[in-house]
Amino acid sequence: MAYQAIIAVESFMESQTTDLAQRLSQCAHAVFERHVPAPNTFEIDQPIGYELRTRFDKDLGHVRRLVVYMRGTLCDWSRKGGGCVYCGFYRATNGGVRIPDDACLNQINQAYQHYIDLGADSVGIYNDGSFLNPAELSESAQHAILETVASWPGIKSVTIETRGSFVTRAAIERCLRILRGVRLEVCLGIDSLDPSIQGLVTNRGVRVDATIRKLQLLKELGCGATALMVYKLPFLTESETFDDLLGSITRLTELGINVDLEAMTVQSGSVLELLHQEGLYRPPWIWSIIELLRAAPDPKSVYLSPFSYSVMTKDVPRNCQHCSEDVKRELFDRYELSRDAGDLPQLRDCCVATWREEFTRDCETSLEARVAQHLARIEGRIGCRA
Ligand code: SF4
Ligand SMILES: [Zn+2]
Repeated sequence: MAYQAIIAVESFMESQTTDLAQRLSQCAHAVFERHVPAPNTFEIDQPIGYELRTRFDKDLGHVRRLVVYMRGTLCDWSRKGGGCVYCGFYRATNGGVRIPDDACLNQINQAYQHYIDLGADSVGIYNDGSFLNPAELSESAQHAILETVASWPGIKSVTIETRGSFVTRAAIERCLRILRGVRLEVCLGIDSLDPSIQGLVTNRGVRVDATIRKLQLLKELGCGATALMVYKLPFLTESETFDDLLGSITRLTELGINVDLEAMTVQSGSVLELLHQEGLYRPPWIWSIIELLRAAPDPKSVYLSPFSYSVMTKDVPRNCQHCSEDVKRELFDRYELSRDAGDLPQLRDCCVATWREEFTRDCETSLEARVAQHLARIEGRIGCRA
């Protein structure tokens, strides 16, 4: 009898979680439908922009990476699943009409001069979606881009992002043949290795175990395998975020998988923006991120992305107004070049007490109850059920 009762409670909790995840997905769909741009809103043969990132790479040492923000077609997951809960990248895309091959190649050719002028030796190509998804970037465009980039002088490495479902042995071997010895790094979004968090609060639409298998396949094929993790997901407290990320990073380090830690920004056109407008979300404290890097078992395998992406943001990771800019400078100009925990900024008196209070505060409400309460606050605003 007791056993049956436990089963009943467990299945009730599971159905409640699934119901919440569906409500979150409906919100994401509604927000996407409101903001998706019409095709050809933007120039399709111009990239969105470029950025030079000097960074430490565990396999290559210091690299000067030219990041090319390509104008993308539209992430398929935004259209089919509403997109990840924090994502506003779709607003900078071509609204789902695939960008022709010659326009894609034009975008890359324009990046060449920046590559040379900035003295870069590696390239990151981000298309606000999945590089390996033929619906977003045709196979012939993928080939042409990789072939072009591999011919640039002194190039050591190319980084792409994709959803794990597009990583197959055949697709990766094809890319490697085209790159002819230039190293390929592939980044897969996963956010949390805890399925109960990942499945409830991200609307990412991927399975943790399947994504890990794809990262292991990439390693087996000799690629750089990098898990994309955002710090901090909505609905979680600062301390839950820290514990979840530390557990995830520790496990990934044990598996020999690198981490690209992306501190959360509030992008316009995302569910996160609605939560932020309702006062239900604050971007992470920079101190929390620093404490995570201090605690990480191998800081050399955790890359901290600058807090800037291809779209405008409404709010960014911060401490107080007195120290945020200085601490960011120390973090990116000193620590990120050495990845030595001794180079991490020291806590400062201006806001450490406030941060510590928030960092150690427990929340008595369960995560499920919090998700339900927070969703109820935004659903009415966007025409989802209240
Ligand atoms: S975060 Fe990436 S995978 Fe998620 S919806 Fe945005 S572009 Fe697509
Ligand atoms: Zn401060």
